[in-house]
Amino acid sequence: MNSVVVRTLFSLFVPGGLVVFTAAVLISFGLPDKSLFALVHIYPYLVAAAGILLGWRFNRSRLIFAMLLLALADRGLLIFSPNIGVASRGIDQTVYNAIGFLLPLNLVFVSRMRERGILTFYGAVRLSIILLQVLGVFLLCRYRGWGLAALVNYSVADENLLSRLPLSLPCLFSFGIAFLSFTVGFIQNESVIENGFFWALLSVFLAFAVGKVGPISTIYLATAGLVLVVSVIETSHSMAFKDELTGLPGRRALEEKLPQLSGNFTVAMVDIDFFKKFNDRYGHEVGDEVLRLVASKLTMVSGGGKAFRYGGEEFTILFPGLNSKAAISHLEGLRKTVERARFVIRGSNRSGKKIEKPKGVRGFRKRVKVTISIGVAERNEKYTFSEQVLTAADKALYRAKKAGRNRTST
Ligand code: GH3
Ligand code: MG
Ligand code: MG
Repeated sequence: MNSVVVRTLFSLFVPGGLVVFTAAVLISFGLPDKSLFALVHIYPYLVAAAGILLGWRFNRSRLIFAMLLLALADRGLLIFSPNIGVASRGIDQTVYNAIGFLLPLNLVFVSRMRERGILTFYGAVRLSIILLQVLGVFLLCRYRGWGLAALVNYSVADENLLSRLPLSLPCLFSFGIAFLSFTVGFIQNESVIENGFFWALLSVFLAFAVGKVGPISTIYLATAGLVLVVSVIETSHSMAFKDELTGLPGRRALEEKLPQLSGNFTVAMVDIDFFKKFNDRYGHEVGDEVLRLVASKLTMVSGGGKAFRYGGEEFTILFPGLNSKAAISHLEGLRKTVERARFVIRGSNRSGKKIEKPKGVRGFRKRVKVTISIGVAERNEKYTFSEQVLTAADKALYRAKKAGRNRTST
C-alpha cells in the first residue's frame, strides 16, 4: 500500500475509531460486571465535564449541544425504557425508537450548524428546539394510540439482518442518513470534527444495537461524547501546528520536530522564484492558490521527505536519516516536477485590483508555470545543531538564487 493510502486510513481511524474500538473490546471481552457498574458512575460525568469545559474555553457551543443531546438520550433511555429487550412495554419501545430516530438527525444538525454560542439568541433557539423534541417524545408516549407512535415503532417482520436489530425502520433510516452525511462530509473536508462525528455516531449506534438499556448503553453514549471531546482537542492542536492556507505543518511543527531528530538528517529550504511578480500580476488570491498548488507538489517528494511551510512562500523539507547527496536526487526530481507542472489557477478577482485576465470576464482560468530554488544542508561534524543546519540551508538557497534560480545548491 502506498503511503498516501496508509496516511488517509490512519487519519480516518485515529483517534475516533480507536476510542470506539477500545470501548467495544473492553465491553465485549474485558470488563467484569462489577467494574462496568463502577465505571458508569464516573465515566459519563468526566466526559460531560471535559466537554463542557472545552466547549466553554474554546468557544465550541456545538460540543456542548452534542453533550446535552447524548446526556438527554442516556437519561431518557434509563428512565423511560429500562425494560427494552426484556419485557418491553409500549412506552419503552416508543421512547427507545423515538430517541433512536431523533438523536442521529440532531447530531447531523449540530455538526452542520455554525458556531454561534450558547448564551445568545441563536443558542436559545437551538436549545428550545432540543427541548421541544423532549416535549414531543413526551406527547408521543402520552398519546400512543394516535398512530404516530406506531409509525416510529414500525419494523420489518421478516428474518433479515435489519429486523434482528432492536431498532425500528425509521431509526435505521435516520442512522443511515447520518452515517452518509458524515462520510460525505469527511471526504469533502477531511475535517477531524466530521471524522469525530462519524465515530461518535457509530458509538451511539452500538448503544442502541445492544438492545438493552443499562451500563453498556450508557458507556457507549459516553464514549460518543469522548470521541467528540478528543476531536475538538485534535482540531485545536492541528490549528496551532498546521498552516491554514496550505494544510502543511507550519514552522512551529518544524521547530518541534527538529530537536527530536537523532543521527543524520538533511534540511532543504525551498523558495518560489519571482513570487512577488506573480502576486503583482495576478493578485494576492491567485498567489495564495499557487502556494497551495506548490505545497501539494512538495508533499509528494520522494525519499521520505516531509514538507513544512516555513513562512511566506518559503518551505522546508526534512529528510530524516538521509545525507545531502541522497536528498539532492529526490529534491532535483521535485524541482523538475514543479518546473514541468502547469498550475491551473481560477481567479475571481474579488480584490478589485487591476490584474492580468481575459477582458470582460469576471472569473478566469489560466495555466501558469512556477519554478523553485532549493538550498540544501546536512547535519555533520561542522553543523551539529539543527539551527546551524537550517542557517546553512538558507545560505545555500541564497546561492541558488544568485546562480540564476530554478536550481538546487549546497
Ligand atoms: P525570489 O526569486 O528572489 O525569491 O523573488 P520573490 O519575488 O519570490 O521574493 P521575495 O521574497 O521578494 O517575495 C516574496 C513575496 O511572497 C512577497 C509577498 O508578496 C509574497 N507572499 C508571502 N507570503 C504570501 C502569502 O501567504 N500569500 C501570497 N499571495 N503571497 C505571499
Ligand atoms: Mg522568499
Ligand atoms: Mg521567492
